[in-house]
Amino acid sequence: MKKIILASNNQGKIKEFNAMLSGIYQVVSMQDMQIEEAPEIGLTFVENALIKARNASMVSGLPALADDSGIVVDALGGRPGIYSARYANHHGDDKANTQKLLDEMAMVASRGARSARFWCAIVFVKHKHDPTPIIIQRGWEGEILREKMGDNGFGYDTIFYLPTHNCTSAELSSTEKNKISHRGRALSALLTILKKNQ
Ligand code: IMP
Repeated sequence: MKKIILASNNQGKIKEFNAMLSGIYQVVSMQDMQIEEAPEIGLTFVENALIKARNASMVSGLPALADDSGIVVDALGGRPGIYSARYANHHGDDKANTQKLLDEMAMVASRGARSARFWCAIVFVKHKHDPTPIIIQRGWEGEILREKMGDNGFGYDTIFYLPTHNCTSAELSSTEKNKISHRGRALSALLTILKKNQ
């Protein structure tokens, strides 16, 4: 089976991508090949995903897949956006990031003004110079709650309310979430394209 490198060190993502790509590609991680992740110096999710995918492909010599995601809050002009993982300064501190967002949104009274979306960009490059990368983006609409609800998921899930389901994304099972989430739908769209191009 063809190998592909996933430009991430996040074990959760590696598991998710591995499960979806099984049968098409054997997923190799950055850790397996002892490769450092490229710094995320872009200004958009797409730029960052492309930077990460190209770097992984260049260093490994394999086709590469990268994703970049975050939460985009309208009342904050799109923040934290691409800085979602490091919003409260320490990379990946979910508790501090969520609290900071709750604090920043405390003054936004009307429910209509608390709209937000999770965003995911996925990039696939066949090789380091691939001039036609596959780029997929999907969003997931919701609202920022005033307090946490639910225990599942990670990141901002406990304060991301889904009007369509009358619960937060932290109250969905992982199977339910993957079917409708930004990342789940982006991955599934990518999969359809990869299967066609095989
Ligand atoms: P990445 O690993 O650089 O893509 O960081 C994405 C960050 O965005 C995570 O650390 C979370 O804070 C946030 N995020 C992205 N997707 C989700 C999600 O599905 N639920 C909750 N938070 C998310």
